[in-house]
Amino acid sequence: MWTRSTQRTWHIKCDCCGEEIPYIWKLPAINGKVPPGGIRYASTKEITDEEGTIDWVKLRESVYYQCQLCEGRMDWNAADQDRRNQSGRYIQMNENGDPSYEFFNYNAIAHAPWPELITKWKEATIARSRGDLSKLENFVRKQLAEAWNESDYMSDEVQENARGGYLLGEKWEPEGGDEPLLFLTCDVQKDHYYVVVRAWCVINGVLQSRLIEREKVVSVGAIRDLADKWQITQNGIRGSRVFMDGNYNTGQVQRIAADNGWMVFRGDKAMDFRHQDGLRRIYSDVQYIDIGEGTREAKGGRYAGQVRFSKHSALNRLSLIRSIKTEDDKMVWTYADNAGSVYERQINAWHRISKTAPDGKRFYDFINRDSKDDHYGDAEQQQVVCAAMAGLVGVSGADNSEDDA
Ligand SMILES: [Zn+2]
Repeated sequence: MWTRSTQRTWHIKCDCCGEEIPYIWKLPAINGKVPPGGIRYASTKEITDEEGTIDWVKLRESVYYQCQLCEGRMDWNAADQDRRNQSGRYIQMNENGDPSYEFFNYNAIAHAPWPELITKWKEATIARSRGDLSKLENFVRKQLAEAWNESDYMSDEVQENARGGYLLGEKWEPEGGDEPLLFLTCDVQKDHYYVVVRAWCVINGVLQSRLIEREKVVSVGAIRDLADKWQITQNGIRGSRVFMDGNYNTGQVQRIAADNGWMVFRGDKAMDFRHQDGLRRIYSDVQYIDIGEGTREAKGGRYAGQVRFSKHSALNRLSLIRSIKTEDDKMVWTYADNAGSVYERQINAWHRISKTAPDGKRFYDFINRDSKDDHYGDAEQQQVVCAAMAGLVGVSGADNSEDDA
């Protein structure tokens, strides 16, 4: 509809050159460089201290608008914003627009305080760096009044090689970070298991992750040995950082989990799950499965904790996290140099492909090009859900319902 319409867009006169311009957030990059013009603000380096704490006041004070024509500077205050709007008008952007589709467009730069906008933008980009695009989507739709194209905000190139310069079995003691959190996840096959132990840590405000172990084992005892070796919590429904995929051989996996103090994961087609607190997350609340049900042990009171998660959202977050680099150009999500070719092949079994919806929006979908051989990839998806449950990867869609536009 917008494409066919007159596309009348709100313009103001630049304080510096006097030309009529629409407020833009920023122009699309040309050859990797963003042209001048749009909302400008201090870089992450300028507003972040050594501990990774952001000076929000400094960020808010740094914001201004740069004219996309003369590169002149316009500062924000309510009176100036109002004055510019007084002499503003809608200009038809689509010369061949169908006059029966009069569409008017303006964005929040025309009416909202810029310090507030930049705060929301920064929060959204921080969430993005944690693998959560929902805040950015909310910002683009509601503040910028633009269509959301997921593919514009994710790098097309997922790093297929993310060797981190360390070996399997190495303890990770990052400088300037908290103690890393370790999770063990496990893909279940008929008579063997693919186990991944991965560590997650926020270092100077940036989430980073390392592969600690990856192993194909043939017994439950071998999984327990790995969990014990890394002192990973195994207290069942009272707290466990060991998770088994329960989509195959469900009943048996639930019993193994209950016996060992582990949890069960069930990948699901849902995009997210509503929790008791009203928020939607990529994983469900814990369900308690009475594994004695229908058997002689029914009175035994043995329970397995089970969590459902969105396969699609987990894949999306994993691929987003795998495309992010730190300020010094290192991948945030890595694996050991000797993780091996089987591991490397399996974690890349799922391929992200850009698709276009009938309404023209672009989004990502995933196809499994190696479905018989994606086991470590499944264990890595589960790891992302673990990180989300630990609050390291953002809450999904938390503010999508909030109407503040
Ligand atoms: Zn100008």
